[in-house]
Amino acid sequence: PSLRNPRYRVVLLGDPGVGKTSLVNLFAGVQERDLLDQHGGAAYERRLTVDGEETTLLVLDTWEPEQRGEESQRRSHCLQVGNAYIIVYSVTDRDSFESASELRIQLRRARQAEDIPIILVGNKTDLVRCREVSEEEGQACAAVFDCKFIETSAALQHNVAELFEGVVRQIRLRQGGK
Ligand code: GDP
Repeated sequence: PSLRNPRYRVVLLGDPGVGKTSLVNLFAGVQERDLLDQHGGAAYERRLTVDGEETTLLVLDTWEPEQRGEESQRRSHCLQVGNAYIIVYSVTDRDSFESASELRIQLRRARQAEDIPIILVGNKTDLVRCREVSEEEGQACAAVFDCKFIETSAALQHNVAELFEGVVRQIRLRQGGK
């Protein structure tokens, strides 16, 4: 990592079972043992070229549901370290959609003054007949929360590359068009 190949930390948030691990496994790259210890969960590092410029993305899939009554250290760590956040819900699970909104609020609280890129992701679009959250609802939610929105299917590998490229573009936009 250098000025010409900056490294950004991207944190995946979302309820268990929505597909975070599947998405990050498709993105994959090298699993970093040091980082794993440092962040207490799975971390993947990969170089990618977006719009002709190389970037290294470090993706942290470390989220755990909150233990009752106590804010886990790992959880607050996650909310502090990201340069960008991917909040995932499953379009087949309305509860996970509601959790996504709560996560967005927590994130805003944790990083009040900062303008961090957040991408709201509706995953599992392949499960057409089990859909509980429409694309329009996802879009509306993203508009309210001032974040980007994309629907993906990890199973069909649909929009997964677009998701991570979009994250890189959002980070660059905030850095003055670099
Ligand atoms: P995590 O707990 O958020 O990391 O979710 P996982 O990645 O472990 O996925 C939970 C389950 O959903 C697994 O059985 C996955 O195979 C399945 N899954 C993940 N993404 C998709 C998807 O896009 N479509 C379908 N049909 N299943 C998916």
